Amino acid sequence: MAQLLFKDVNKVYPNGYHAVHDFNMEIKDGEFICLVGDSGCGKSTTLRMIAGLEDITSGEFYIDGKLANQMSSRDRGIAMVFQSYALYPHLTVYENLAFGLTLEGIDMDIIDEKVQATAKILGLTDYLERFPRALSGGQCQRVAVGRALIRKVNIFLMDEPLSNLDAKQRVTMRSEIKQIHRSVGATTIYVTHDQTEAMTMSDRIVVMKSGGYVQQIGTPYELYFYPKNLFVAGFIGEPPMNFIRGTVEGGKLKASGLELDLAPVVKDVKSIEGKKVVFAFRPEAIKLTKDKNSYQITSTVELTELLGDTTNVYATVGEGEEKVNVILKVNPHHTPEMGAQFNFVVPHKAAYIYDAETEEIVENDIKRH
Ligand code: ADP
Repeated sequence: MAQLLFKDVNKVYPNGYHAVHDFNMEIKDGEFICLVGDSGCGKSTTLRMIAGLEDITSGEFYIDGKLANQMSSRDRGIAMVFQSYALYPHLTVYENLAFGLTLEGIDMDIIDEKVQATAKILGLTDYLERFPRALSGGQCQRVAVGRALIRKVNIFLMDEPLSNLDAKQRVTMRSEIKQIHRSVGATTIYVTHDQTEAMTMSDRIVVMKSGGYVQQIGTPYELYFYPKNLFVAGFIGEPPMNFIRGTVEGGKLKASGLELDLAPVVKDVKSIEGKKVVFAFRPEAIKLTKDKNSYQITSTVELTELLGDTTNVYATVGEGEEKVNVILKVNPHHTPEMGAQFNFVVPHKAAYIYDAETEEIVENDIKRH
């Protein structure tokens, strides 16, 4: 296992493109970390710097306390799984798993022991004699993970390993990779653009934004309940958070026909007087009955989608130019009619106020549970 430390790590490509800005983080032994963000935000670049496949332009990167900027890939104790699993088509599963070890000239008996043990962990024992063409996508990906796993490594790097699989296989592999991580214990850095994957697998998540800027690092719980800026608020959660933009006048949010007293949800309402802010709440956080610790908002229902366990209500708040779209999750037994007026309630503890200019959350003392 290994502990990793990044100090002000930057990557500027030879063409001058600054792909990663001041990456700072300490990763503990055995942690499962996801790097998540839209395509092009610098996730793979960061992973490749860890692997030693890409030079670090400035800053320091340590593995187990040792400066690793110049350390060769071989000496880093890493294994990597990529999106395209690239198995050797003319070799069986057994031979694919054994390939790297055979090259290293390891004794056949030891190789056999390792192949069998790895196949067992991955549920591939019955498929060892098959060729890749006779495997499903999920099984191929398992072989690819197996090839990385068979070499005892301290750091496991995965770059979108599930993106070639269909939705059902992805869900299965997600939990398999988690289980493998639990049994093997290697520090794992996993790159994905899929926030659900990140939320379900990680001990901690690093949310990155295009340009290679880290937005927030935290547990799935922290990112979901305490997103510190608008980007993270909009990125984590499905459907995404609702945003209503407005101005603070006399301590109240004036927006889309609303007048909401902000004193209960910010620490110092005077500090935001006159400012443009964003009032945010999650679709699943709304309630139907009002109490004194909540805001009531009137909307017009545009469309409803019954999903089974819940109904997504697509509605609008406000009129004319101030009209905004919101998505609300309601109990399917209480699905409102399309075109109807729908009054919903946002508990104070589920309301987030962001400064529209800095996009940072406005200071508050709210406990979200
Ligand atoms: P992600 O993995 O988040 O999709 P990448 O780390 O692959 O993003 O890329 C980050 C940015 O760096 C992208 O804008 C990409 O075009 C750019 N980039 C990647 N590799 C190179 C390279 N070799 N030279 C110049 N720019 C690159």
